[in-house]
Amino acid sequence: MRETPRPQDLLVWYDRHARALPWRVPPRARVPGGRPDPYRVWLSEIMLQQTTVAAVKPYFEAFTTRWPTVSDLAAARDEDVMAAWAGLGYYARARNLLKCARAVVADHGGVFPDTLDGLLSLPGVGPYTAGAVAAIAFDLPATVVDGNVERVMARVHDEHTPLPQAKPILTEMAAALTPVDRPGDYAQAVMDLGATICTPRNPACGLCPWRGACAAWDAGTAVELPKKAPKKRKPTRLGIAYLARRVDGAWLLERRPDKGLLGGMLGWPGSDWAEEASPESPPIRAEWKTLPGEARHTFTHFHLRLTVRTALVPMDRPPGRGVFVGPEDFSPSDLPTVMRKAFDLARGP
Ligand code: SF4
Repeated sequence: MRETPRPQDLLVWYDRHARALPWRVPPRARVPGGRPDPYRVWLSEIMLQQTTVAAVKPYFEAFTTRWPTVSDLAAARDEDVMAAWAGLGYYARARNLLKCARAVVADHGGVFPDTLDGLLSLPGVGPYTAGAVAAIAFDLPATVVDGNVERVMARVHDEHTPLPQAKPILTEMAAALTPVDRPGDYAQAVMDLGATICTPRNPACGLCPWRGACAAWDAGTAVELPKKAPKKRKPTRLGIAYLARRVDGAWLLERRPDKGLLGGMLGWPGSDWAEEASPESPPIRAEWKTLPGEARHTFTHFHLRLTVRTALVPMDRPPGRGVFVGPEDFSPSDLPTVMRKAFDLARGP
């Protein structure tokens, strides 16, 4: 007969196999009361939304070196934070990050609230992030469900309802298993199991502490789970980016409006991005050349194909939009990825 999944078995496994992550206090250090800094937990959870651990690590190191506390981050200039976030994507997260840091300082004396409700009241902190911070930083028995946890729950219970419809069912399953003892370590243990053993394509069931309790292992259905509703095809949009360089080496750039895609980020002036080609809208009078090839980028809801036009302009010609940024103040790494792709095309191999 199949066993019931026991949180304790997973915790024993976690004590030996926890991933070393820069924002984590390893289980051995937690036993004598070592707690992770809520600021680091919160920052890592915001960065990890829609992004892999490998991509987040260097950004996390850079942020915590430059802004070691939530008060340091709250006092940072918006443009510095946006530039430091460039390349990580989903830029609304960076704007909310600043809002949240400032709210922690203004409304909570620079100390993160230690209750689920308190955390939920912070800007940009939804149920997932509040649960993760509550569990990991404050050891509260909050249920934390990310993609890894969904996969593990669907398999352990052999649940075939497709996502996203299955979300509440899987959340209920995860809640039923969350222990009162060491809930923070348990939350991280399920995530680690999903990330390292119960992986999407090749689960290493032979190494799994829950194999004896796993219904999908019994049924031989693990690799089929979780089921997912068919995805809608992403449309393709077209656009033009105008890269104007002044004879002194300055580039014509503009900051995008705060609201909307890539909000608040630095970028090249350009046309709208639409499924039909948009009319030309050069930001300055010049002899524009069209580069061969395109800058291609995929956003959550569409693919983008960007035509890149370049021009060299004299010192005395005023732009209709944007500002010229001298080479000493311009770093391509301050640009979001799609804008950097356009720059790379202009710079050539
Ligand atoms: S036995 Fe296999 S499918 Fe089941 S939880 Fe463990 S790794 Fe996942």
